[in-house]
Amino acid sequence: MDENKAIIVVDMINDFVTGRLGGEYAEAIVPDVRELLEKTKEKHMMRIFVQDSHEEDDPEIPHWGQHAMKDEEGSETIPELQGLANKKINKRFYDSFYKTDLEKILKQNGIDRVILVGVTTDICIQNTAAGAFYRGFDITVLKDCTAALSKERHENALEYMRTIFGVEVSSSEEIIATMAPDQN
Ligand SMILES: [Zn+2]
Repeated sequence: MDENKAIIVVDMINDFVTGRLGGEYAEAIVPDVRELLEKTKEKHMMRIFVQDSHEEDDPEIPHWGQHAMKDEEGSETIPELQGLANKKINKRFYDSFYKTDLEKILKQNGIDRVILVGVTTDICIQNTAAGAFYRGFDITVLKDCTAALSKERHENALEYMRTIFGVEVSSSEEIIATMAPDQN
């Protein structure tokens, strides 16, 4: 059943896709992420976007330089995915759960499995998988809807999450295929 799953869309914002920390690797997953969100929206599956929204004194800023600053264009959802979120949550750390309401919202909605998509596989996706694991959620990561700076970093992170957090590695095609065709 779809009712107990939520899709968590991590950092599909301008700075991480087409902006200062983005690139072709991130742009390449946009069509699959969009299709997944359109299809799951039709089926009323929960879709929560969790996105960087930084303050000047955040610990990441000296490390990466300014990116995804609060209230700037760089921290906005990319145009291709506008209108596809049930809910948007701002974060200030790699882990989407850390100092956010994500856990509370998932629990209020009876969600027990999170499906992670977005960028990058080895940073915010992997840290969000850790946050989900610590809080007892089952975790799926979609290999065609996540990306990292290199193919190797992507594959290594998937393997790490599978081994360490028991993550199920799947694809958008598989998720779409498992949704009942006339569930409405
Ligand atoms: Zn950041």
